[in-house]
Amino acid sequence: MRIQTASKVDSVDRTNGGPASCRRHTPPPSLRRSLYLAPPWLLDEYIPRYNLISSVDAAKKRSQAYAHLRNCNLCPRLCGVNRYERTGVCLIGAETVKVNTIAPHFGEEPCIQGHNGSGSVFFSGCNLRCVFCQNHDIAHQRNGFDLTPEQLAEWYIKLQDVGGVHNINLVTPEHVVPQVVLSILHARELGLRIPIVYNTSSFDSLQSLKLLDGLVDIYLPDFKVWENSTSKRLLKADNYTAVAMESIKAMHAQVGDLCFTADGVAKTGVLVRHLVMPGHEDEGKKIVQWLAENVSKDLMIHIMEQYFPRAHVGKPKRSGSGKVVEPGGVDASEETKANVRYEDINRPVDLKEVSAVRAAAEKAGLWRFIEAARHGGFNI
Ligand code: SF4
Repeated sequence: MRIQTASKVDSVDRTNGGPASCRRHTPPPSLRRSLYLAPPWLLDEYIPRYNLISSVDAAKKRSQAYAHLRNCNLCPRLCGVNRYERTGVCLIGAETVKVNTIAPHFGEEPCIQGHNGSGSVFFSGCNLRCVFCQNHDIAHQRNGFDLTPEQLAEWYIKLQDVGGVHNINLVTPEHVVPQVVLSILHARELGLRIPIVYNTSSFDSLQSLKLLDGLVDIYLPDFKVWENSTSKRLLKADNYTAVAMESIKAMHAQVGDLCFTADGVAKTGVLVRHLVMPGHEDEGKKIVQWLAENVSKDLMIHIMEQYFPRAHVGKPKRSGSGKVVEPGGVDASEETKANVRYEDINRPVDLKEVSAVRAAAEKAGLWRFIEAARHGGFNI
């Protein structure tokens, strides 16, 4: 039986988008481009990368993690604070992380959640301030309980041994990367043996991704918007697009395109998500084109249609009448509309907008999509 190891993944041959060890099994191009659960993306077995790094490299990563906490420039906010003494934009200190929920989760892509669920850890706080945040009760507030990296590691083991989950899925971890690194290193000593998923908005720094290299198996990055004016207005970040481009390239350089075992569950690689925004489908088209031309045409991508107005969208303007307008603002009068915030995205996305982005992705050469199966469920 051929065993796919991290060292082999590290030696990815980018010319065909798959691990070098799989290249000799690559079928003819005509077949290769119609089956994504086939060589070179099909693995017999998989050993998580964190179980393959040496104890010396693990010790180096530990000391780098502590150093970053004492002078935190780990994300593009570049706060430069000593997190043992004060907090930066993310509002999270050094000793503990704040966690909202830890549980087997069935709301992810089928290849991530599998049959038993993805062992999700939803971190409180975020380094972005998306006005439409679909998880704003978690991301914009400091709700939850405090856990040290060691306690976090114990939860990973419970998720694995009791929950039987397929992976540990770290949701919105960009602002707690040092603690996450420490937790993974501790968990490997406790017997963790399932892949680590890094589920990110892509507002990461290269330093942070370097620290994670060798510890993360699957990167699940969003690519949210394309125009700087949009990111400034809707994400409250000036440089999101440039950062996301650099981050996704770095993630792909580490783990390559998404690979699966024969059960259809992803084990290593990158899966990019794009949530199509109402009225912003042109930005989606540019994003998918850029991904195809600059990352990989074999990139797995999920073009998401579940946008719904939440968080600050559809709320009364501070200077408005004060009348409460629910997100979605159905049948709102012109006067009411004029008084709600972010009125332009105060509606669900239209399926025609989603289809336009999908068509642009296909035209650009992307072909590995997360999509509903003909039998009504999802392909797995
Ligand atoms: S992780 Fe937090 S403290 Fe560090 S630079 Fe980002 S926002 Fe600032």
